[in-house]
Amino acid sequence: MALDMTAFWAELSPALDRAQDDADRQAVIALILRAFTAPMESLLSQTLCRPIALRRVEACRLTRGVRQYGTCTLRRRDDGTCRLAISRNLFFPGNERNLVDVVCHEMIHACLPAREGHGPLFHEALAALNRAYGLRIAVHSSESAIGEAGAFYRYKVTCGGCGHTFYYLRAGALVRHPRRYRCARCGKSRFAIEKLR
Ligand SMILES: [Zn+2]
Ligand SMILES: [Zn+2]
Repeated sequence: MALDMTAFWAELSPALDRAQDDADRQAVIALILRAFTAPMESLLSQTLCRPIALRRVEACRLTRGVRQYGTCTLRRRDDGTCRLAISRNLFFPGNERNLVDVVCHEMIHACLPAREGHGPLFHEALAALNRAYGLRIAVHSSESAIGEAGAFYRYKVTCGGCGHTFYYLRAGALVRHPRRYRCARCGKSRFAIEKLR
């Protein structure tokens, strides 16, 4: 399925410029999900020679993440849904490319088997999307450190499988019921929760 990138950027840029609050930011993410879901499913099905369907995005949370820009979490019993978390720090005028790269990185996790992590299918999917749409999705950009996390976080969640760490301000569903979820990077359901303050 073709995706008209010129039209896409022309729609995204003003929406990002106008984004003032979380409702606006959610609308920007919805725009990216809407534009990329069908083209990504079709492109990845061809590239990986298997039917690929993006899990239904059950929730998309906005974070204050500075250590990582995005995460994708699956249910422990993979029921075809996922939860995304995207950092508010990506939402500023002119940052549309980085924002799209991070959302697409998490969407790739949402397309692939729970244990794939950043494995060979992930790399193939990433390269195909970058080629087809002129993106610069990276394996680690969405999780890489850009500075010290502020002291404002209350909970630190570490995946016992791959060591990936997430920070939360509030005791959300994952913090309260970690056994219901699994890490989209390694497929394990072994989160350790640490209360920071
Ligand atoms: Zn993990
Ligand atoms: Zn990742």
